[in-house]
Amino acid sequence: MKKFLLTVIIFLGAVLIGMQASGWRSFDTGTQYNPPYHNADEGQPDDKPDGEGRPEPSGMPILGESAYLTERQVQNMTEWRKAAVELAKQHPDQVFYCGPADRKMVGLTFDDGPDAIITPEVLDVLRDYDVKASFFFKGNRVKKYRSVVKRALDEGHLVLSHAYSHQELDKMSAYEISREIEAAEDALWEVTGQRPAMLRPPFGAVNGDVIKESAQHSHKLILWSIDTLDWSHKDRYHIARNVLDNVRNGDIILMHSDEDKGETVAALPLIIEGLQKAGYRMVTLDQMLGLEAYKKQN
Ligand SMILES: [Zn+2]
Repeated sequence: MKKFLLTVIIFLGAVLIGMQASGWRSFDTGTQYNPPYHNADEGQPDDKPDGEGRPEPSGMPILGESAYLTERQVQNMTEWRKAAVELAKQHPDQVFYCGPADRKMVGLTFDDGPDAIITPEVLDVLRDYDVKASFFFKGNRVKKYRSVVKRALDEGHLVLSHAYSHQELDKMSAYEISREIEAAEDALWEVTGQRPAMLRPPFGAVNGDVIKESAQHSHKLILWSIDTLDWSHKDRYHIARNVLDNVRNGDIILMHSDEDKGETVAALPLIIEGLQKAGYRMVTLDQMLGLEAYKKQN
């Protein structure tokens, strides 16, 4: 048993070092990928630490397509997706990309707001359908659009962190990562009176330092299991199909609410009506994952 544990520890250490060395690119907006971190296939620990009553990640693949990606982008996206699934398995208490597979619920999530137009329009649609969602706001825009941020919170949505300046955290020092997380948290706290406990790393860029620093700041890392690719294939029907053709129990669905996402707003009623028709409940991430959305305050 001791020998086994030692093997697990050495394996996880090697994974962390590997990730730091190679970086880990994602797909939440249209940047070119670096070769993403490739996970070792062998030596998977069998008895992962249990998630304190939380369900294990199902290991389901990450889905969603765009007709406007280059071959290289598709290749990098595919590799990133595999790595993301593995990372969630290896860090079941810190990295999440989907919820439990045994409940017919999904989470709608919106990155890159707040802004003056699209985020309020998204909020209008959600209000009309009485659906709650989770927003990952850019810290450096929170004070500029404070009424939009407050509205999101007041209407029952989660107001969470997308770091401060929307940079690739895996390219930063541990100190810089820490500052990105803290600055976004402080901006959200100043506007909402809540400190977020969930972080969506910009571009899904994660490495060992990002995992360590986010954990140290009591932020869970939240990725996604359906990518609408609404920044790439900006067509309401395509965006809706990416969701409705792929949806599974526990999906965390990635969309965006910054300035040029009019088609995302137009897709939203199609998505909500389609999900409701198929019997899915749309819930916020704290409900979905059994985690606190905000830090406890004294
Ligand atoms: Zn983003």
